[in-house]
Amino acid sequence: MKTIGLIGGMSWESTAHYYRILNTETARRLGGLHSAPVIIHSVDFAPIAAMQAEGRWHDAGVVLNGAAKALEAAGAQVLGLATNTMHLVAEEVTEGVSARFIHIADPTADALLADGYDTVGLLGTRFTMEMGFYKDRLSARGLTPLTPDVDHTNLNGIIYDELCKGIIREESRKIYLNAIERLAHRGAQAVILGCTEIGMLVDDSVSALPCYATTELHAQALVDAALA
Ligand code: GLU
Repeated sequence: MKTIGLIGGMSWESTAHYYRILNTETARRLGGLHSAPVIIHSVDFAPIAAMQAEGRWHDAGVVLNGAAKALEAAGAQVLGLATNTMHLVAEEVTEGVSARFIHIADPTADALLADGYDTVGLLGTRFTMEMGFYKDRLSARGLTPLTPDVDHTNLNGIIYDELCKGIIREESRKIYLNAIERLAHRGAQAVILGCTEIGMLVDDSVSALPCYATTELHAQALVDAALA
């Protein structure tokens, strides 16, 4: 099995989920005491979040490219960036890196298409919902992404002010469930939890639409690539 390099810390709450899924998936597939060979480079999220808020995407890309290079130098052969939002700078992150990079939107699109969906809701940070980088990648695969018609600032705030700090509020769950219901009324057949923390708040047991959690799908794809 190849060594997985994970650029995490955005937030560490979701990176902890990745670590668990990478290992449970590896154990499930290989059995016995098998676990994932994984190296995690977990950043301090505060300066990265400040760069996002200030639109300094290139600077953030440079920091994450340093993390990717450090992981490769440490032996990582497969690379994952454990945040949807920072895939905005995926090209900068992987510049000069030869380890196989698994883009988080790709296994997500694969899973939706395999299940026969084409019109899908997209929940995420305001950057993921509003900037083109994520929706365009889904559209290129033949999917039609719909973003919520409720206040994006509110959905975004719940991610940064609560979920990234491990805070789960019933009130916030209701706001997300309402956004999902409205997406369903507009024709969405499924919903992408396109932020690695949203799975902490909603899942299939409470959602009006089937949930496609990027954290799960990305971690599984990293295991696939490591075992290929
Ligand atoms: N983890 C989140 C995501 O998947 C948001 C935090 C970030 O901005 O990186 O987009």
